[in-house]
Amino acid sequence: MKIENSIQKLKNNEKLNLEEIDFIVSNYTLGNINDTLMSEFLLLIKEKGLSYEETFYLTSAMIKTGDILDLNKLSKIIVDKHSTGGVGDKVTFLVSPIVASLDLGVAKMSGRSLGFTGGTIDKLESIPGYKVNLTNDEFENLVNTNGISIISQTGSLAPADKKIYALRDEINAVESIPLIASSIMSKKIASGAKYIVIDLKVGKGAFMKDVDSASNLAHYMIKIGEYFNRKVVCLLTDMNTPLGYTVGNRIEVKEAINFFEGKREKRLERLVKNVAAHMVSLGKNISLEESLKQVEEVLEDGKAKNKFYEWITSQGGNLKELGLASNTYTVKSYKDGYINEIDPIKLSELLNLLGAGRQKKDDIIDLEVGVELIHTINDKVEKDEPLMHIYYNKKIDNLEKIAEDIIKINSILPNEKDIIISVIK
Ligand code: URA
Repeated sequence: MKIENSIQKLKNNEKLNLEEIDFIVSNYTLGNINDTLMSEFLLLIKEKGLSYEETFYLTSAMIKTGDILDLNKLSKIIVDKHSTGGVGDKVTFLVSPIVASLDLGVAKMSGRSLGFTGGTIDKLESIPGYKVNLTNDEFENLVNTNGISIISQTGSLAPADKKIYALRDEINAVESIPLIASSIMSKKIASGAKYIVIDLKVGKGAFMKDVDSASNLAHYMIKIGEYFNRKVVCLLTDMNTPLGYTVGNRIEVKEAINFFEGKREKRLERLVKNVAAHMVSLGKNISLEESLKQVEEVLEDGKAKNKFYEWITSQGGNLKELGLASNTYTVKSYKDGYINEIDPIKLSELLNLLGAGRQKKDDIIDLEVGVELIHTINDKVEKDEPLMHIYYNKKIDNLEKIAEDIIKINSILPNEKDIIISVIK
């Protein structure tokens, strides 16, 4: 078998079969196929697309290069969620304790930040003492006893994806729906859950800029799920505005504490309740309405909050020591009006300049850097009122100028947009 033949088939618009995709993925992972040929192969996929079936072959070929976790041996029904990546996205560590306090299991492996998107593992690692690496036994024991554990994704799940993703990044082949779908789903399927809720972000601060491409991606992921006998639900959610009141690492953990104490930004609260409710509905096989009721109950009676503390403590974290960077700059409103825009990309670019984000996988980041929004989208503000605080250690040129360009104020109140655009099952 030769990759050149498959490349020719793609050029001729012929379908690829399981054996040839398997051959290419396994041999590229082993180093027997070079980057030049693999790049040609991936760029042709980006240009021509793949059918659902071919995307399933690609996903299973990537899964086969690594371990597959068996969660069936755990004592709980395990439900999983995934976010395609956004700005200020702390949903994982809000929904997981909610779901675990409803007697379902969360056995989750998460990733780190890259580019403009944040990563759950960096946020959890900003809690002094929190262990992101556990042995399999420790991980399983915590899920069996507390119903929840979140650790760093090991390199042993779908290693082909890691190598292919790095090449895609280099050759500008990230933005391809079948390649994104197979990349996400290979890791989700290998990490074992039967029920998966995907928070598929759409808008300026997301991979998917428009609803049509996001829906297309959702259908690919649901179809791949069906081939593997996994139930996948996709929520298309708005990412034109950062999520919640904070963006950064440790500062988002502080927001999580406030959230469980009842101080909740409205859009974030709606998203969290709905993602959690879809997870509960899948895991317990009950209606969404009933699930939402249960989610609201555990948020109000303190069970979700207690589960949050129990989980963080069980992994060694100390929530009493959450200091932020020592310098603060406050952006004030330049006029009376309504907040029309909080640009998620400009905000995350500023945080990256201040050291809170990664350009390359190995960059070390400053976990104390963060932004706190005093007001959020559509709020009415008066001239000179504080809009946001920026906490930083490293001084940069033009901080004021960059910061003041993030929030746009206008005299017109924009139409309120629901954060949940649609649900695709
Ligand atoms: N996230 C992934 O894991 N893979 C992609 O290709 C894009 C986003």
